[in-house]
Amino acid sequence: MTDHERDTDPRDAGTTRAALSRRDFLKGAGAAAATLGLADSAAASGARPWDLIVVGGGNSGLPTALFAAQRGARVLIVEAAGALGGTLFLSSGQLAAAGTRLQKQRGIDASPQQHYDDIMRISRNTADPVLLRLAVDHAAPLFDWLVERGLQPLDGQPITGTTHEPYSRPRYAWDKGGGMKIREILMAELQPLIDSGQLQVLTSTRVVELLQRDDRSVVGVVTQDERGGRARHAGRNVALTAGGYSDNPTMHEKYEKAPDYCRSTWPYSQGAGISLGLAAGGWVRGGQNHTPLFGAVLADDELPSTIRAMVRHFPPNRPPYEIYVNAAGQRFLCEDVPSHDAYEQALSRTASETCWVVFDDAIIKAAKPIASSSLNVRWTHDDTLAAFAAGNVPNFYKADTLKALATTAGIDAAGLADTVAAYNRAQASGQDPLGRRFMPMPILQGPFYAIRLRSWNLYSYAGLAVDGRLNVIGYDGKPIPGLYAAGEMLGIGQLMGKTVCGGMAVTPALALGRVLGEQMISLEA
Ligand SMILES: Cc1cc2nc3c(=O)[nH]c(=O)nc-3n(C[C@H](O)[C@H](O)[C@H](O)COP(=O)(O)OP(=O)(O)OC[C@H]3O[C@@H](n4cnc5c(N)ncnc54)[C@H](O)[C@@H]3O)c2cc1C
Repeated sequence: MTDHERDTDPRDAGTTRAALSRRDFLKGAGAAAATLGLADSAAASGARPWDLIVVGGGNSGLPTALFAAQRGARVLIVEAAGALGGTLFLSSGQLAAAGTRLQKQRGIDASPQQHYDDIMRISRNTADPVLLRLAVDHAAPLFDWLVERGLQPLDGQPITGTTHEPYSRPRYAWDKGGGMKIREILMAELQPLIDSGQLQVLTSTRVVELLQRDDRSVVGVVTQDERGGRARHAGRNVALTAGGYSDNPTMHEKYEKAPDYCRSTWPYSQGAGISLGLAAGGWVRGGQNHTPLFGAVLADDELPSTIRAMVRHFPPNRPPYEIYVNAAGQRFLCEDVPSHDAYEQALSRTASETCWVVFDDAIIKAAKPIASSSLNVRWTHDDTLAAFAAGNVPNFYKADTLKALATTAGIDAAGLADTVAAYNRAQASGQDPLGRRFMPMPILQGPFYAIRLRSWNLYSYAGLAVDGRLNVIGYDGKPIPGLYAAGEMLGIGQLMGKTVCGGMAVTPALALGRVLGEQMISLEA
C-alpha cells in the first residue's frame, strides 16, 4: 500500500475522502495489510463499512448491486473500465429461460426442470447440479423482469437454437439491441439509486486486493485507479463479479489446458477476480469442461489474433461438400452430423485444436459459399476467392496438387492423399466409414483448396468454487465469510457443462447476480 491510499465513506457518494492514517487503519489489528481489523478501524473513524462491495460492474455485477440496493443495502460498485456494462457492450444478449410468460403466451410447454434436463443431456451430465438448478430456477423471473422493462424478443422467438446445440424446446431469445439493451434496462434501474447515494460507482478503478481478518472473513477491498492511487474500502460483504479470463491466454491455457488463439472478448476479462479469490483462500474448478467454438478463420498468424471470417459448418444451414482433416491429414468427424456439439468435441480432440477444410475447384463452384462474416468483420464469397487468388492471406491455401496443398497448409501430405482417396471411394459407393451420408461430389481435380480453422472462445470454463449460496469456499469446503461470486467467475462450465449451451452465460450471470443481490439483505439480518 502507498501513501496516497484513501478510504471511501459510503455516505460520501461519488467522492473519496481523506484517508485514515495507516496507523489508525492498522490500530488494534496488529496484522499484515490483508488481515487487519479494517471494519473496526473504519467504524472508529466514523466511516461505516459498505453493506456490499461489488467487484466488476458487468453482466452479473449490475444486477447484484441493483437488487441489493433496492432492498436497502448501501452498495459500492468498483469497475475497471471507464463505464459500467462489461461484456454487455459486446454480447448478443442471447438468453435461455424456461417457464417465461412469453412461452406461456405462445403455448410452449416449458419448465425449469426441462431446461435442467436438456443441459444435462447435451453436456453428458457435466454441469454442476447445484449451480445449474439455481440458474434455471431463476432464469424465467429474470427474463420476465427484462421484458416488463422493455426487452423485446425478436419475432418468432423463443427458438430452440442457432449457432449452439439446439434445445429440445424453444427457450432461446434476444432483443435486436443485444447486450446493450440489457445494459440500458439495468442502467435505468440503477440510476435513481446512484442519484440518491444508495449506490456509489467507481469507474476506471480496479480492485487489487481483498482485506481479510485472521478468521478468513473478507472485510473490504483495496482499489487502484488509473493514476495508481490506492484506496481501502470497508465492506461487510464482497461480491466478486469481475468476469472470466477469456482475454488472458496464460490463464486460459493454465486452467483449460488448451490454446487461446483468438481475441474476441472484453479486454478486462483478465481473470483478476479469480486471482483475488485464490489469494483469499478459494480454489478454481471446472477447466476440464473446456469446449472450443468451431469455425473461426483467424486474421493473422500472430497469435492471439482476431477472427477474419467464419466457416459455415452446420449441416442444416449448409450441407457440407468438403471434408475436414486434422494435421495428420485424417478426417476426424462425420461432416454431416447436425450437431454443433459434435463438431466442438471433435475439434477439442485434434492436436492444438486446429483443422483444415479441404475441397477442390468443382466443389467451390457447386457449393454454397463456405466462409461468411464473423462476429464483427464483414466477409463475402468474393473475399474468399480473392484470398485464395492472392496466395498470401493467412489460413487460405490453394495449390495445383494435393501434395503441394498439404505442404503449403501444414498438413501431412501422405495422410491427406490417403484420406482424399478413401473419401472418394466412400463417395462413389455411398458407404462412409464415419457414417456420412451427404457426399455429393468427390475431391478430384485441382486446383485444390484448404482453409485452416482454429478454436476460439468467448467464455472461461473454469471458475471459483462456491456453495449453493454463492459463497466462495476453500478447499476444506467451508465458506469464506463475506466473500461471494457470480457470473463467469463461477466458470461457465459449471452452468453448461462440457459443451456450449445457448444463453447459458448471460442468463445465469444476470439471474445469479440477482439471487446474490437479493440474498445480501437476508444475510445481514
Ligand atoms: C462477443 C461476445 C458475445 C457473447 N454473447 C453471448 C450471448 O449472446 N449469450 C450468452 O449467454 N453469453 C454470451 N457471451 C458471454 C457472456 O457475455 C459472458 O459470459 C457474461 O456476460 C459474463 O458476465 P460477467 O458479469 O461475469 O462478466 P462481465 O460482463 O465481463 O463483467 C465483469 C466486469 O468486471 C470488470 N473487472 C474486471 N476486473 C476487474 C477488477 N479487478 N476490478 C474491478 N472491475 C473489474 C470488467 O471490466 C467487467 O465490466 C458473449 C461474450 C462475448 C465476448
